[in-house]
Amino acid sequence: MKRFTKKIEDFVCENCGTRVSGDGYTNHCPNCLYSKHVDVNPGDRANICGGLMEPVSYDAKKGILHRCVVCKFEKYNKLQKNDNSDKIIELSATGV
Ligand SMILES: [Zn+2]
Ligand SMILES: [Zn+2]
Repeated sequence: MKRFTKKIEDFVCENCGTRVSGDGYTNHCPNCLYSKHVDVNPGDRANICGGLMEPVSYDAKKGILHRCVVCKFEKYNKLQKNDNSDKIIELSATGV
């Protein structure tokens, strides 16, 4: 048995079905950039909402703005290095 000291989770994206291997920091899908409303504080998974969080825009300083489709909660998330760059460009063009 392997024991993880860090929270490393693999998950399947509920929006596009991509299998995402977590590195302990991943909180969104690198393909479609959707996230899930599960944290109150980063990584604690204490939120019971569980709604999909849609990427609505991208800010070079703050990162990707995610909005929960269930409760409309908005949150900026840092870009991950393997994120889909086409999608980021699309989001930057949209603006807020
Ligand atoms: Zn996805
Ligand atoms: Zn929510």
